[in-house]
Amino acid sequence: MTSVLLVAEIDDQGAISQTTLQAVTAANGLTSAEITAVVAGEATEPVTSLAVGKIVTISAIDDADIGVYDQATTDIAALVSSTKPDIVVFGKSDFGSIVGARLAFRSDSAFASDCIEISNADGTVKITRPVYGGSALAEFEISSTPAIVTLRAGAYEPDGETGSPAVEAFASNERASRTVSVTDTVSEARDGVRLEDANFVVSGGRGLGGPEPFSVLADLAQALDGAVGASRAACDAGWIDHSHQVGLTGKSVSPDVYIAIGISGASQHMAGCSSSRAIVAINKDADSNIFKEARFGVVGDWEKVLPSFLATVRELKA
Ligand SMILES: Cc1cc2nc3c(=O)[nH]c(=O)nc-3n(C[C@H](O)[C@H](O)[C@H](O)COP(=O)(O)OP(=O)(O)OC[C@H]3O[C@@H](n4cnc5c(N)ncnc54)[C@H](O)[C@@H]3O)c2cc1C
Repeated sequence: MTSVLLVAEIDDQGAISQTTLQAVTAANGLTSAEITAVVAGEATEPVTSLAVGKIVTISAIDDADIGVYDQATTDIAALVSSTKPDIVVFGKSDFGSIVGARLAFRSDSAFASDCIEISNADGTVKITRPVYGGSALAEFEISSTPAIVTLRAGAYEPDGETGSPAVEAFASNERASRTVSVTDTVSEARDGVRLEDANFVVSGGRGLGGPEPFSVLADLAQALDGAVGASRAACDAGWIDHSHQVGLTGKSVSPDVYIAIGISGASQHMAGCSSSRAIVAINKDADSNIFKEARFGVVGDWEKVLPSFLATVRELKA
């Protein structure tokens, strides 16, 4: 038996995050996996019907812990130390990246971030992750226990399976020592789907020439039930908030379709979107690197191409 601890996340709307549902698929694909999901706070529907063997609850994440996750790390580390799982799986989110890395330090164990595949068929935990800004994939074997991984959003599809796991509470009784105090938290205003969870991402770059065109991109994203992304150049210019940035120093996305508009396709940008199932580029420079990465592309001025593209999408969806 391989014991897997899956760290579940509840999103800001009170739903299980897509990355958690994807991690459930990944965990269920492991050989002889006995899966326990850990969730902060109370386990209510739909957590209680996750396709896992058991749910363990830890203390809820309060406002003072958002963004630093000191208490959540302490609780999960205590749970890991008492249950000794072989593998700990997080979705790649701010929470997973912060807590996963700290947990690895506390457990003196390996941490593999941003994985797109995990397996244990021959008894060894193997993971695959993009390297060199997404231009190559590398496979690693993890020999330390537990193997702690974060899975890139979109690497697995939620399979819709449900279960009826037993629920038990775990109290670590340990108070986290705080090095940072959170004085205020602000929820990001968001219409529609989260960037990391979107099946369609419509991203804009410096080629848009200013902030106003992002409203057209938002219209296209809305027509596709998708989300708006951006290059760092567009974010640095103040045209759109940095929470939309895709890339090495931004978010990693793996949508079904990634539409890059006025984006040159620098390696640092591609690091965040190269695992998309299809990339569509609109760029006026035929020699732009984005066309080496794109499955479909239009060489042209976005101002001419985008209105008819949007009209056609709306027509097809009507
Ligand atoms: C350490 C480091 C980390 C970085 N991290 C990131 C990151 O996370 N994400 C990221 O995006 N970048 C990142 N960068 C920056 C990256 O190297 C590029 O500078 C950036 O991605 C370029 O953004 P862009 O494609 O929007 O702009 P540009 O490279 O300037 O490209 C603009 C494109 O728009 C096209 N264009 C212009 N006008 C039109 C028009 N009217 N119609 C259609 N197309 C048009 C042009 O042909 C061009 O290809 C990082 C850089 C470093 C050094």
